[in-house]
Amino acid sequence: MTMDRSTSASGDAATVGVVGGGIFGTTAAIRLAEAGYDVHLYEKADDVLSATSWSNQFRLHRGYHYPRSTLTARQCRNAERAFEEEYPEAVVGSGSHYYCIAAEDSKTTGSEFVSFCEEVGLEYEYETPAVVDPDPIDLSVRVPERRIDPVRLKERCRSRLAGADVDLYLDHRVDDVAALDHDYVVVATYAHLNSVLPPDSSLRRSYRFELCEKPVVELPPAFAETSVVVMDGPFMCVDPYGRTDRFLLDNVVHAVHDSMQGREPDFDDEYDPLLNRGVIEDPAPTAFDTFVAHGSTFFPGVTDADHLGSMFTIRTVLPDVEETDARPTLVEQDGNTFVVLSGKIPSAVTAADELRRRMRADE
Ligand SMILES: Cc1cc2nc3c(=O)[nH]c(=O)nc-3n(C[C@H](O)[C@H](O)[C@H](O)COP(=O)(O)OP(=O)(O)OC[C@H]3O[C@@H](n4cnc5c(N)ncnc54)[C@H](O)[C@@H]3O)c2cc1C
Repeated sequence: MTMDRSTSASGDAATVGVVGGGIFGTTAAIRLAEAGYDVHLYEKADDVLSATSWSNQFRLHRGYHYPRSTLTARQCRNAERAFEEEYPEAVVGSGSHYYCIAAEDSKTTGSEFVSFCEEVGLEYEYETPAVVDPDPIDLSVRVPERRIDPVRLKERCRSRLAGADVDLYLDHRVDDVAALDHDYVVVATYAHLNSVLPPDSSLRRSYRFELCEKPVVELPPAFAETSVVVMDGPFMCVDPYGRTDRFLLDNVVHAVHDSMQGREPDFDDEYDPLLNRGVIEDPAPTAFDTFVAHGSTFFPGVTDADHLGSMFTIRTVLPDVEETDARPTLVEQDGNTFVVLSGKIPSAVTAADELRRRMRADE
């Protein structure tokens, strides 16, 4: 539904080119089109939400994961409701969610975690899930966090794009946004933000890139509908995979096959056929056995995991955030060009609204 019309100097609707059809670019395209802009969305793959937005842990972060960055925690908490209103079918409310603090080597103690929850206004109750060995755990709390169903999210994005009248160009790689003829350009290409910006753009910057593996597994029935994060540092988590009976494993250390800092990701060619291709059965490079060996310290039942395959993608974060583990979503602007660095998925809607606000302020 068009609510009003944002116009260019000629009196026509101002045009916006959005580059990158992940959850951030797609949401920006939808909401800007609904606000009256003439929006063109360019995606180099043959579908929207096919890169990192299709290969992640699908946790609808409320903030619990970030006790060392209250900025990130607050951003998640503030963004959650808007995300749910935009994509209600994609939010899975069933299941039990737990956060545990490891007794050793954690960067946050149990009491610090409780203080953090109180400070940010995050609800919790003391409870240890049956699948967790309580011995290596300092604290375990049950929390009202939820997860994302990637299939429903993609379906909803496709239908919202069509309904909002966005001009969608799939299989369309943009090499340089300077060649696009639009009143505004939004760059939402996540691991490739710099590659589409002109060499002299003030928006170019260094990032830290991590090549991540995300194993998809079947687990014993005791894990059904149970999501557990062990924190805070070199630990792991187990989450149901959308509305399937499968699970996603994560491990802060062992999920990362390689990492680097720079303008563009540059990893071994052997990963090219694996990256952002969905679940790869029996991948040659895999850290699955290490996930299990390490994870069994906290989740004894994980030794019975059946490895169905792994997803591979590139995480893109600000450099030098190891101390805080911050994952902020940033909207930066140089003239009529905007760059969106995504932190966590719920902030896709608030980032889109920030873009709309800044474009309005320019008119
Ligand atoms: C391992 C891992 C786990 C995560 N877990 C969670 C989680 O549980 N919850 C959460 O909220 N967040 C999580 N995140 C973060 C979240 O997944 C990302 O922030 C988010 O999905 C990125 O969305 P995006 O739209 O910015 O990028 P993407 O989904 O990567 O989309 C960018 C798009 O740009 C396209 N593109 C690139 N270059 C060009 C070009 N030149 N021309 C045209 N198109 C181009 C790509 O094909 C791609 O489709 C996780 C991230 C990782 C890596």
